[in-house]
Amino acid sequence: YKTLRLILGDQLNSSHSWFREKSDTTLYVIAELHQEQTYCRHHIQKVLAFFCAMENFAVALSEAGHHCLHLTLDDTDAYKTLPELITALIGHFKVAHFEYQQPDERRLVQQLDCYCAESSFTSDVASTQHFYVEDTTAAEWQLNSGGTMEHFYRKMRKRFNVLVHPDGKPIGDKWNFDHDNRNSLSADDIDQIPKPKLFRNDIEQPLARIRNHKLDVFGEVGNTLSWPTNRKQARALMDYFCEHLLPRFGQFQDAMTDQKPALQWSLYHSRISFALNAKIISPKEVINKAIAAYDADKKSIPLASLEGFVRQIIGWREYVRLVYWQNNDYGDHNYLRAQRSLPEYFWTGNTKMNCLKQAIGQSLEYAYAHHIQRLMVTGNFCLLAGIHPQEVDDWYLGIYVDAIEWVEQPNTRGMSQFADGGIMATKPYAASGNYIHKMSDYCKNCHYKVKQKDSDDACPLNSLYWHFLDRHKKTLGENQRMQLMYKQWHRKTEGEQKALMKRAEQVLQNIESL
Ligand code: FAD
Ligand code: SF4
Repeated sequence: YKTLRLILGDQLNSSHSWFREKSDTTLYVIAELHQEQTYCRHHIQKVLAFFCAMENFAVALSEAGHHCLHLTLDDTDAYKTLPELITALIGHFKVAHFEYQQPDERRLVQQLDCYCAESSFTSDVASTQHFYVEDTTAAEWQLNSGGTMEHFYRKMRKRFNVLVHPDGKPIGDKWNFDHDNRNSLSADDIDQIPKPKLFRNDIEQPLARIRNHKLDVFGEVGNTLSWPTNRKQARALMDYFCEHLLPRFGQFQDAMTDQKPALQWSLYHSRISFALNAKIISPKEVINKAIAAYDADKKSIPLASLEGFVRQIIGWREYVRLVYWQNNDYGDHNYLRAQRSLPEYFWTGNTKMNCLKQAIGQSLEYAYAHHIQRLMVTGNFCLLAGIHPQEVDDWYLGIYVDAIEWVEQPNTRGMSQFADGGIMATKPYAASGNYIHKMSDYCKNCHYKVKQKDSDDACPLNSLYWHFLDRHKKTLGENQRMQLMYKQWHRKTEGEQKALMKRAEQVLQNIESL
C-alpha cells in the first residue's frame, strides 16, 4: 500500500469523496482503540453502538471493493495510544503517506497534529464532509460579534435555502413557531404515544470484548442493541420519525411523562442523534427527508413541527459546533464557581425526587434522555445545586449514546450550567419545580410536594431556585433578562426569604439523601 487512511468511530460517512474511487494502493483502517475507552467512563450502549457501527462500516467498505482493515480491541491491545498503532501499521504495511479526516474533538486534533508534525511520513487532513458549515473558523461564521442562535439560524436557512421562498422570506411567513409548540401531554395524548422504533443489533462479540478487556463501563443493556448502526437502519429510523412522530414533534417537544415506561422515554423525538453524530446519516439527508414528508402530507404535519425539527439540526447542532471550535478554553469555564460534587444517585437513579429518578433511570436504561430532560431536569438540578461543571460534563459525556465533546460540552457547560458566562445563552436556564409540574406528570408521583416552598417535604427545586438567585446576585443581578426574577425575589418579605434560604440550606446539606 502507498497510503494509509484512518477512519475514526464518528467518521462513518459513506458518501465521503474518499470512497468515490477504489484503489489497490490505499488501505483504510477502522480500529477499536483503548485510549477512547478511558478518557471518560462510558455507558455500555454507547460503546456498543460505536463498535457495531464501525464494524458495519468496515464490512460495507470491503463489500464495495475498498481495502479495509477492521481492528478490534483484541488486535489493538498492545497499543495504548492511537499514534502507537499508526506507527505500527505504517511500519508493517510500509506506507509512506498517511491521511485522516479532521477529528471533531480538540483532544484528537491535537494528538494527530502533533504526531504528524513529528513523523517522517507525509500526511494530509481531509474534511469530514458532513456538516452544513464546512469551516468553523471562516469569517462568515464568527460568533463573537454577539449574534444569537436565532440570528445564526435565520442566516443558515437563507444561506442553504431551507424552508425559504426565492426572495429569502421564510415559508409560512415566520422564522419561529415556538409559540405553537411545547404543550404538555393529557391522558388521551399519552395513550396515543407511538412505540419507539427499536432495532435488534447482535452484540454478542463486542459485548464479549468489552467484558474480556474489563472496560470500565456502566448502565444497562439487553440482549440486543436498539440504536441504528448502519445506513439502512438510520434511514428506516428517519422514515419512521417522518411518518409517526414528526406530526406531533413540535407540539410535544418539551413534554415529559412517567406513564407507560416502555413508550415514554423518547416520546415524539427522532432518536437520530447517534446516527447523525457518528455521521452514518448526514444532516442534509435528515432535513430533506423531513421536508419531503411535509410536502407530501401537509394535512398531518404542521409547519410548526417541521420548523421545530429543522431548527434543532440546522440551527442548534451547527451553532454549538461553532461555539466549541471558536472558544479554545471552553472546557475550563466555571463562571458561577460551582464546587459541589455530583450526588451518587446520578449513577443509580436512587432518589426520592421523581423527576430526577425518571430522567436518570431512563438514561441508565437506554443511554438516552430527550432535550428537556437533559436541560430542565438533570441540568437544572445541577445548576441550582451548584455542581462543579467538570463533574456535570463528565456525566453527560459518558451517559448518552450521542455524546461527543463538541456537542455535549456547549450544551452542558454552556446552555445548562451557564459556566461559560453567557456564550451559549443570554441567561441561565434556571427553574423551580413549577416548570416541571407544568410540562410533566412527574410531580404527581413524587415524595416531595411541588406546591410547598419551605416545608420539610417541599420540592427541593423550589427553595434551591431562590438560593441560586440570591447567591449569584452579584454576577447575575445586572443581567437584563434576569430582572423580573430578581424583582419577584425582592418582593418577598424578609420572613419568606429566610424560610426559603433555611430550606435550601437543609436541601444542600442533605443533597446525597434527597
Ligand atoms: P430530537 O429532539 O429528535 O432532535 C433532532 C436532532 O436535533 C437531534 O438528533 C440533534 O442532532 C439535534 N439537536 C437538538 N437539540 C440540539 C442541541 N441543543 N444541540 C445540538 N444538536 C441538537 N446532543 C448530542 O447530540 N450530543 C450530546 O452529547 C448532547 N448533550 C446534551 C447535553 C445537555 C445538557 C443538553 C441540554 C442537550 C444535549 N444535547 C446533546 C442536545 C439534545 O438534547 C440531543 O441532541 C437530543 O436529545 C438527541 O435526541 P433526538 O435525536 O431524539 O433529538
Ligand atoms: Fe421534581 Fe419537585 Fe416535581 Fe418532585 S415535586 S417531581 S422533585 S419538580
